[in-house]
Amino acid sequence: MADHQNKNHVDVVVIGAGPAGLTAAYELTRLEIPVVVIEQDSLVGGLARTVEYRGFRFDIGGHRFFTKIASLQSLWQTILGADLLIRPRLSRIFYGGLFFDYPLKPLNALRNLGVGESLLILGSYILSKIAPVSPETSFADWVSNRFGTRLYRKFFESYTEKVWGIPCHTISAEWAAQRIQELSLLTTLTNMFFSNRFRKNTQSIKTLIEEFLYPRLGPGMMWDAFQREIIRSGGVVQLESTVVSLHHDGERIIAVDVMNGKEQSVFHPKYIISSMPLLHLVHALSPLAPERVIAAAGSLKYRDFVTVALIVDAATLFQDNWIYVHDDSVRVGRIQNYKNWSPDMVPDQSKTCLGMEYFCTAGDDLWLMPDQDLVLLATQELSAIGLARKDMIKDGVVVRMPKAYPVYDEEYPKAVATIREYLDRFVNLQVVGRNGMHRYNNMDHSMLTGMMAVQNLSGGKHDLWAINADEEYHEIDNEQAE
Ligand SMILES: Cc1cc2nc3c(=O)[nH]c(=O)nc-3n(C[C@H](O)[C@H](O)[C@H](O)COP(=O)(O)OP(=O)(O)OC[C@H]3O[C@@H](n4cnc5c(N)ncnc54)[C@H](O)[C@@H]3O)c2cc1C
Repeated sequence: MADHQNKNHVDVVVIGAGPAGLTAAYELTRLEIPVVVIEQDSLVGGLARTVEYRGFRFDIGGHRFFTKIASLQSLWQTILGADLLIRPRLSRIFYGGLFFDYPLKPLNALRNLGVGESLLILGSYILSKIAPVSPETSFADWVSNRFGTRLYRKFFESYTEKVWGIPCHTISAEWAAQRIQELSLLTTLTNMFFSNRFRKNTQSIKTLIEEFLYPRLGPGMMWDAFQREIIRSGGVVQLESTVVSLHHDGERIIAVDVMNGKEQSVFHPKYIISSMPLLHLVHALSPLAPERVIAAAGSLKYRDFVTVALIVDAATLFQDNWIYVHDDSVRVGRIQNYKNWSPDMVPDQSKTCLGMEYFCTAGDDLWLMPDQDLVLLATQELSAIGLARKDMIKDGVVVRMPKAYPVYDEEYPKAVATIREYLDRFVNLQVVGRNGMHRYNNMDHSMLTGMMAVQNLSGGKHDLWAINADEEYHEIDNEQAE
């Protein structure tokens, strides 16, 4: 082991101050268990942070707070009180040079598609019911079987490939099943034509589709408040500190090495709750994990994310919170209008701040493009879509976010199973959260894993891997939430 400067004995080290780690630490402090949160960044919130630039605030993506877990919803309300706003939701799809209401509305869809195209879509749907693709292995198969090949090509293929950067036939059907549960063309049409009172679970569907909770100053406001609560209750949140190694004896993690700039410290916790990416966790183990486990970790893939925030000299540009850009004439995947999420996201109401979102892979041309070129590209694309003139863009800033999305490709289930099976031997280590488990968890499920990990420390027997997968969690419009 390296020459360590400090020997810190704490009860629990939590790795990462995103929603999962902060929730775990919050729960620990409530139980008066000493905890140190180690966070590599200079701010908390992880993927759900809020970035501030010249007083303009923006998210990495737009973070809607929605959950079916009542205890989490009331925790959010307790933490932020009146600063947790109920916001109306409005979003559209830009495709073929036209804007489609989303969720789809009959007259708007018919007007945009035309009667002929609508009939072709219906015909293709009927065909998919008569002769579905079997076996259903890929995202392309799964969606085509439920919506027909024609609608899949129009509304799902180009956007999904922008998001994941891989052909839809290589994305697992399991991902579609998890994210687009229970939807089909029939249910979509029913929802389009009949008002809410005819739907099942009317209230929750209406709530998810038409409004959502959002902190007045963006999601980071929630995580700043969690951080304050943890510190107030005696916990420690150590920023700009990276966990670089976890030393073990084959059964327990016995020491955690942390780098803070050039300074190294070592912790000897009784327990570790980790939300760092599974890939990095495996690589940080010392002695090294067996070759097959390292190979499994190395096969995990991620999708990365670039936000170009543009400050526009206009009080109002459009009413949507966000617009999905399915059109492949531009590279932008989604456009956020943060002022429509909360007016207080802009410091000057005569201006608008838009987030031009580019899905990419670290090292590709978008990721490596110099900031000023990205601002130029975003400006050109915004004006090509027709949402603002180039001369209205007054400023721009770029934020690159690695590992925004754990990729569900064909290999990942086996890889995660191999890593899980190996990590299970460490009796004082639990993995939580999104990249921490390589699970496509939203904030609520990430938080739930943190909460349950803490309950497990005091005798709970929760299987954290069952969260989300086993839970009844039907996000009727969540297929495009991210
Ligand atoms: C574009 C986008 C849009 C989204 N929209 C929504 C939405 O609308 N609603 C919703 O509920 N969810 C949404 N999510 C998901 C949400 O962001 C995640 O569920 C949540 O942030 C996961 O929390 P986490 O704590 O597991 O991980 P993270 O947020 O990734 O936090 C992990 C933390 O660990 C730190 N860390 C990593 N490695 C180390 C290390 N070695 N040492 C120290 N620290 C380390 C990281 O810096 C990070 O702060 C969205 C995600 C994205 C990418």
